[in-house]
Amino acid sequence: MIRFGPAGIGPVKEAISNLEMYHKLGLKACEIAFTYGIYIKEKEDAIKIGKKAKELGIKLSIHAPYWINLNSKDKKKIEESKKRILNCCKIGTLMHAHRIVFHAGFYGKMNKEETYENIKKAILEMQEEIKKEKYTPKLAPEIMGKINVFGSVEEISRLVKETGCSFCIDFAHVLARYRSYRIKETLSEFKNSRVHFVHSRSSKRQTEEFHIHFSGIEYGEKGEKNHKKTPEKEWEKLISELPKDKDITIINESPSPVADSVVGLNILSSVK
Ligand SMILES: [Zn+2]
Repeated sequence: MIRFGPAGIGPVKEAISNLEMYHKLGLKACEIAFTYGIYIKEKEDAIKIGKKAKELGIKLSIHAPYWINLNSKDKKKIEESKKRILNCCKIGTLMHAHRIVFHAGFYGKMNKEETYENIKKAILEMQEEIKKEKYTPKLAPEIMGKINVFGSVEEISRLVKETGCSFCIDFAHVLARYRSYRIKETLSEFKNSRVHFVHSRSSKRQTEEFHIHFSGIEYGEKGEKNHKKTPEKEWEKLISELPKDKDITIINESPSPVADSVVGLNILSSVK
């Protein structure tokens, strides 16, 4: 199944009515944007929102704050970054959120291999904490659209293989980074990594599931510039190449994410 939904659930007071509106529109996913801070603070609110989403069959995920760098030179900044992600896990557990999507970090002056090792270490440490605290969401580092930012397809899929973490494939970012969506190649990279992981730690068998971000994008020499409205042609390209027998969530991150998600949903129904 392919489910669509917007980035953003709105302010706490409007979250329930927004979920109802998404449901009426046929949307079955929503990514709560904590990008500028974890603004759902009360336990009761989190539980209420999570319960409503479940009732309406809307799968929730969370986008962690932008202020994260798991490869900072400053150890304190790494700890603060981990804390922000773990706080998302904590509230996400109350909301039945499935994933915490985050931008893992920057290369800075470090080489790519060192950067990779630092980020992998931080993910493994967070996973320990998640286990200890019995948090339920999975960590999902995102494929990034700027070439100077950690998060190539290869880097993220290697993290999945070596830590068993989840992932977020942002196809707008893939386009900005590689000048092409590489849809089949990218998906198969993750299909293989999951299989590899299943074999290496057989106790953790998971069904393959793709968490995707999509929107229109402007990009240049250095990759991503900004997200924009999702052109119908681009939706068609993506939807026609996605497998129809897999569990797929597509979060739209354009400036009009609800309307664009509905366009995606309609295109899917017309090709079915
Ligand atoms: Zn993101």
